[in-house]
Formats: sequence, structure tokens, C-alpha cells
Amino acid sequence: MAHNWTPESWKQDRFTAKHLPQYEDAAALGEAEKTLAGFPPLVFAGEARKLKADLAQVAAGEAFLLQGGDCAESFAEFHPDNIRDTFRVILQMAAVLTFASKMPVVKVGRMAGQFAKPRSSDTETKDGVTLPSYFGDNVNGIEFSPESRTNDPQRMLRAYSQAAATLNLLRAFAGGGYANLRQVHQWTLDFMSRSPFASEFKLIADRIGEALDFIEACGVDIEDQQQLKSADFYTSHEALLLPYEQAMTRQDSLTGDWYDTSAHMLWIGDRTRFMDSAHVEFLRGVKNPIGVKCGPSLEPDALIEMLDVLNPAREAGRITLISRFGAGKVEEGLPPLVRAIQREGHSVVWSCDPMHGNVIKADSGYKTRPFDRILAEVRGFFAVHRAEGTHAGGIHVEMTGQDVTECTGGSVAITDAGLADRYHTHCDPRLNAAQSLELAFLLAEMLNL
Ligand code: PEP
Ligand code: MN
Repeated sequence: MAHNWTPESWKQDRFTAKHLPQYEDAAALGEAEKTLAGFPPLVFAGEARKLKADLAQVAAGEAFLLQGGDCAESFAEFHPDNIRDTFRVILQMAAVLTFASKMPVVKVGRMAGQFAKPRSSDTETKDGVTLPSYFGDNVNGIEFSPESRTNDPQRMLRAYSQAAATLNLLRAFAGGGYANLRQVHQWTLDFMSRSPFASEFKLIADRIGEALDFIEACGVDIEDQQQLKSADFYTSHEALLLPYEQAMTRQDSLTGDWYDTSAHMLWIGDRTRFMDSAHVEFLRGVKNPIGVKCGPSLEPDALIEMLDVLNPAREAGRITLISRFGAGKVEEGLPPLVRAIQREGHSVVWSCDPMHGNVIKADSGYKTRPFDRILAEVRGFFAVHRAEGTHAGGIHVEMTGQDVTECTGGSVAITDAGLADRYHTHCDPRLNAAQSLELAFLLAEMLNL
């Protein structure tokens, strides 16, 4: 690209910015941006580089990426127990996957910053009243009232502070003993005992415990082994709200490169990944690992053109392609993209988002995702990569450690009528803890084929 990148070059007229909020009070927005720009970075450049190196290992077929968390984090659901429970289910899933595949699992949360949502409609109508849609807690409020649905730049500061506190807790869990493999039995949540997969997990946990006993009997002190007593855990979110992302973008003093310090990894959504998109322009200039959602409308040529913009140096670990075609569609939609990438010699992580192509409206009126369809897309994704000779490298899921009833099905079968019991999501339906663990067992089976 001929022009120079700056943290604000995305604002130029040549780029199209979609799904960005309009703020009535430009001065208030400027004030909030200035305040944010003076706040400390949430993540450090060296950590983003470490994740990129880990993802390069995934791209090379030697590791697996596990990325998961809320569709939308919210101010209302902010609670240490929620953070802990999602973290522990991710640890459980990673233990299952590592045990089965004998590969390292790179763990990335959709956490500590996942606050902005693209919406299919700008407005929502209820009982004859039309208001702006809800765009995520760092833009406006979910409550259906004119005040709440007014965009407020001050919300970005609250999102920052919640992200900072969330990350602080995650760092403590990851490094402070909770993620120690000796704790593997403690990661199962009480309510999960109803799932047959909780007992399957116990078998794996027992075997991990025995392996650790054996290693210790051989004279290795686990407390001396960083890899066993802690976990690397990274954060990610969709880089949608560009004023927020720009304010968090800083120059690394070591390399002089720019990093978006709001998260280790950022991704571009399916609705903002077109040519001359302001979001593509912004992300091309930051050195973090970047995800790109790939849905049915993405043409292979457009994908290659976009990668030439986002990764001209063809750095391994820079790009994760997150396909989200839907069950029954991935078998036909994904191969042309995989072949184009192979033909051009790009190195990418291929990850499967089996959530966003599988949303239906239940008879009860709730937006849901049938668990069978989610599993079918995962199977289709693995089948495509097996046929193409490429590495099915990762999974990207909307999930929570809570016992919610948002996706139907699973071995603790949630019915259409049961959705109303604990439907708490601020946006799309998430897998609950038991469904997440069940998915991990299916993935383990796929990775072992
Ligand atoms: C999301 O990940 O929450 C999302 C909106 O996905 P997509 O861009 O793939 O629709
Ligand atoms: Mn979503």
C-alpha cells in the first residue's frame, strides 16, 4: 500500500468504516480518548510476540489453538466467579486436548475487552417503539430505553477498567497456583457432575495425576517446572470500536513497532473484513497477532488480497483465519479458501468458529444454537482439512463457565422450552460448561484420527 500507516490513518475518507457508533458530543469523545490514551497498556509487546511465536507453532501443525469466552462481556455480569469459572473450563478443555493430541494447546480468552458488537440492524423495535440497537457495553446499554441506548464515550473508560481488573485476575489464576496441573481435579465445577463427560474428565485427571507422581518419583520437583505449575493465558477481542483501539495503541520502546495494547490478539469480524475497510487499515499497522473471520461471502481472491495488506512480510503466527460457514456449508465453502492459501504459500492458523453460522430462532422465540449443528460444523472443518492435507489448527467458541441454558442439546439435554431457565447472554447464545467440555472430547477424538 502506497500510503503511510498511522494509528489514525483509518479515519481517512478512502476507507469505509462500518459498525462504528456516532457520538453526538464530539468533545466528550475527544476527552474520553485522551484519558484512555494516558492509561497504562493492558498487555505488553513482548507478550503479543510470544503469542505470535506460539501461533506460528500452530500454523506449522505442531500445536492447537483454543479460543473462547463470552459473545459480549457486560458490566452487569462482571464478577470474579464468572471469570474464574470460564477460566477453569478453558483449562479443562485444554487438559483434554493436550492429553489426547500430545500437542501444546495455546489458550486465548475472548475475555478482558470483548465489549463491542456489530449488529445486523441499526435499530430495534419493541411494542411499536423504535430505538438504536444495543452495540455492546462500551457503546450503549442493553436496557430498552432512550437514555440507555444513547452512545456514551465514558463507557469506554469503564470497559477499560473492567478489562484491567479481569486481566489482573486472569494473570493471578494463570501464574499463582490455580493453573498448576496438580490442581487438575479441582477444575471441575460442581454442577457438571450431571454430565457424563465430568466422569470422563476425571479419568484423564487421574492419569495426569499419576504421570505427575511418576515424574516426581523420578526426582523432578514439579514446583521447579514453570510449564507444569502455571499456564500461558492470552486475551483477545474483536477490534471493532476503533476510537478505543486507537487510544490503546502504543509504540514499543524496544522495537519501535506499534502494538494495540488492549489485548494480545485482535480479530476483524465477518462484517468488517472487506477491502478498503477502516478496520483492515487499522489492524494492518499493529504488530499483534490478527484473526480474520471468514464467512460464506468471502471470495478466495479477496482473502489473498487482504492477506497481502495485513501480512505483507508473511510473518508466521500473524494471521489466524477463523472460518464460520455453518453446518452443512463448511464442506463446500472452506476448500476454495484453503486451496488459495496453499497456492499462494501463506502460512496461517486455520481455526473453526462453529457458532456464528449456526444461529436459529427457537419456537420459544429465543435465539439459540443447536449443539448438534455446532458439532457437525466441527466435524466438517476437520474433514476438509484432512482432505486438503492441512492442519485443523484451532477452535473459536462462545462459551461460559456458568450453567446457562442458551444453546439447545448436549448430553445434559437443554430443550427449546428449557432455554428460558437461565438465558443470560448479552448477545449470542453460549455453550455452557458441560457443553464446552463435551465439545473438547469431540475435538480430542478428531485430533486423534
Ligand atoms: C463474534 O465473534 O461475536 C461475531 C460477531 O462474529 P462474526 O464476525 O464472525 O459474525
Ligand atoms: Mn457472537
